[in-house]
Amino acid sequence: MNVLLEVFNNILAVFRTIQIKDFVDILAVTFIIFSLFKLVRETRAEQLLKGVLVLLAVYVIATVFGLTMMTNIMRILFEFSVLIVAIIFQPEIRKALERIGKSNFGHRYLSFIFNKNKTDEEIKAIKRSIVCVADVATVFSSSKTGALIVFERDIKLADIVETGTVLNSRPSVALLGNLFYNKAPLHDGAVIIRDGMVYAAGCILPLTDNKNVDINLGTRHRAALGMSENSDALIVVVSEETGNISVAVNGRLKRDLNREALISYLESFLIDDTKVYVRHSSRFSSKRKENKDED
Ligand code: ATP
Ligand code: MG
Repeated sequence: MNVLLEVFNNILAVFRTIQIKDFVDILAVTFIIFSLFKLVRETRAEQLLKGVLVLLAVYVIATVFGLTMMTNIMRILFEFSVLIVAIIFQPEIRKALERIGKSNFGHRYLSFIFNKNKTDEEIKAIKRSIVCVADVATVFSSSKTGALIVFERDIKLADIVETGTVLNSRPSVALLGNLFYNKAPLHDGAVIIRDGMVYAAGCILPLTDNKNVDINLGTRHRAALGMSENSDALIVVVSEETGNISVAVNGRLKRDLNREALISYLESFLIDDTKVYVRHSSRFSSKRKENKDED
C-alpha cells in the first residue's frame, strides 16, 4: 500500500511541476509527429520507417547482449542517418518545404520579403499575355491542336525551364500557333509564361500521382495537374482529342472554359491576386474562388 502511495505521490509531484510551456511543448511535438506520420503514410518513407524500426530493434538487442562490433556498426549507421535520409528523400523534402512556402502562412507573412510589387507596366504585360493565350486557345480549340501553357507566379520554375528552350519573347497568337504546330520541333511539352513573356517552350512538367484523376485524362492533363500541385502556377490545357480548354490550379482542373471564362478565370488569379499581394494580404480571396469554381 505504501509503495502505491509513493508512486501516486511521485506522479502528483511531476504534475505539480508542469507549466503552460510544457503543454505547448507537448502539443508542438505531437503536431510535428502527427504531420510526419501523415507525410510518410503510404509513401516510400513508410517502408524506410519500418526498416529503421527493425534496425533500432537490432541495436537494442545487440546492446543488451553486449555485441560490441554490432553495436558500433549500428551507432555509426544512426550517426549518418540524417544525411542518408536527406539524400534518399530529397524530392519529398523539397515538395514538403515548397508546400509550407505555398501555405497561407508562407504567403501572408513572407510574401512581402520575396515578392516585389508589380508595376502597372508589368500588370499590362500579364493582361496582354492572358488575352493572347485565350485567343490562341480558342483557335486551338476549334482546330483541335493540343497545347499546354504554364503561367508562372511567385514560385519560380527554373528547373522546369531548364528542360526546354528559353525564348523570352513577346507573346502573340502567331508565335504560340507556331510553337504548338504539330510538326514544329518545340510543339511537345509546355510553354512557360513568365511576367507576361513567352519565356520557354518544350518544357517537361511533373506528372500528378493523384490516383483519383479521371481515367479519360491523358498525360497532357496529368502534367498540368502535376505542375499545379508542385507550384502556385496556373496551367492552361487545350485537348487535342476534344478541343476542350481547361485550367489546372492547386491540383484541381477547371474544365470546359470558353474564351471569356478563360480570361476572367486567369485574371482573377494573375491580376486580382497581384493586387491582393500589393496590400500584403493573404490568398484567401483566390482560395475562395477556387473552392467555388472547381468541378
Ligand atoms: P489530349 O486531350 O490533348 O489528347 P491527354 O491528356 O489525353 O491530352 P496525351 O494524349 O497523352 O494527353 O498528350 C500527349 C502530349 O502531352 C505529348 O505529346 C506532350 O506534348 C504533352 N505531354 C505529355 N506529358 C508531358 C509532360 N510531362 N510535360 C509536358 N508535356 C507533356
Ligand atoms: Mg490523349
